[in-house]
Amino acid sequence: MAGPGASNVELWRLLEVYRQRYRIEDRLGPLLGLEKSIRRRMLRSTGLSRTIETLEAELRRVRSELQAVETEIEGSRATGALLISEILDQVREDMGEAWSPSAVRGFRVWRIEDGRVMGNQVCWPEPSLASVCLREVPGDDVPHAVDRCGPPACGIYAVKHLTMLPDEVAAGRISRSIVGVVAMSGKVVEHEQGYRGARARVVAVVANGEGKRIVTDHPDTISSLFDDPLGTLSALGDSTCDDGSTIRAFLESSRRKEEQWISEPN
Ligand SMILES: [Zn+2]
Repeated sequence: MAGPGASNVELWRLLEVYRQRYRIEDRLGPLLGLEKSIRRRMLRSTGLSRTIETLEAELRRVRSELQAVETEIEGSRATGALLISEILDQVREDMGEAWSPSAVRGFRVWRIEDGRVMGNQVCWPEPSLASVCLREVPGDDVPHAVDRCGPPACGIYAVKHLTMLPDEVAAGRISRSIVGVVAMSGKVVEHEQGYRGARARVVAVVANGEGKRIVTDHPDTISSLFDDPLGTLSALGDSTCDDGSTIRAFLESSRRKEEQWISEPN
């Protein structure tokens, strides 16, 4: 029965029952107008649901087309990358540039000056450096070709063989100096004696100063040395004096690590 507890839906259903049972249309008054507007809105609701279905189907179609196009782009990029590496290999060969999938390693020397680690031209505040051209050579990435920059042409320099350094330097016997191995990446230009690289990271060092020496390939110790060379030598260095051949063997083996190939000049 239509008591106070009956639900909305129940009341509308009951109305239908009473309509069929008795003639009560003339009693319904404003309810008839309300019924009409409900029917109108239900039609509109059905229409909107159909529109949503259509849009959802279209969205699914567009999404799957987008995925197909993205897959095609990936495929084209992969094919392109193969072509690019072939073209670049040819350019490097023609231009005498060294290229290696892993970093090219070589030897270099730094001075300790005013508590800082100095290269030939610039200070190394940390054990990695990106080359900056001190001249303004436009439209080419560093290091520049020797006919366009220098002398000396820009880039971070390293030699191929320890024997290219003076004996005392290579043995780590010069006070306030560091001899070490750098891994060069990015564009690396090969010369007969060594390399000029776009970027270099120090991977092993023999540091000498404050009457002490540090021989290490530990990244934290190397970082500390480049941050505060004399302080680190005082704190961590030892005064034992191993012979030059031990030092040279350490540097040589550090250079060989991770090295895949280095082309020799023709
Ligand atoms: Zn340059």
